[in-house]
Amino acid sequence: MNECIFCKIASGEIPTNYVYSDENVVAFNDLNPQAPVHVLVIPRQHYASSAAVDDPSVWSSLLDSAVKVARSLGLEEKGYRMVINTGEQGGQSVPHLHLHLLAGRNLGWPPG
Ligand code: 5GP
Ligand code: ZN
Repeated sequence: MNECIFCKIASGEIPTNYVYSDENVVAFNDLNPQAPVHVLVIPRQHYASSAAVDDPSVWSSLLDSAVKVARSLGLEEKGYRMVINTGEQGGQSVPHLHLHLLAGRNLGWPPG
């Protein structure tokens, strides 16, 4: 997995300002933000997508961390959205599991 860009971000090989980090997860700003707040929350361990996760604790750490980031950014009052694109039709472009935390504007529904 040494060519995975998000593994490199999680390991520190690509220097990145983390919005949040702990032993399981790192969070950082998306390179191409789709909203005023656009944070990516990823497990340090490589999973190609949500479909590859075989350990429920991955979900507890990922979701718990995303909620912590939302709280730390003061997003609860106005709200936010969490998205996990999975696979080709799901619109996934980076093959390392990641959760998008989006906020700061009215987000349309249904998604495109
Ligand atoms: P996906 O389309 O797979 O759900 O989301 C991948 C996201 O990763 C996109 O929003 C894209 O802008 C972001 N992204 C891709 N490469 C990089 C990178 O090197 N650094 C950061 N911070 N974000 C990236
Ligand atoms: Zn990876």
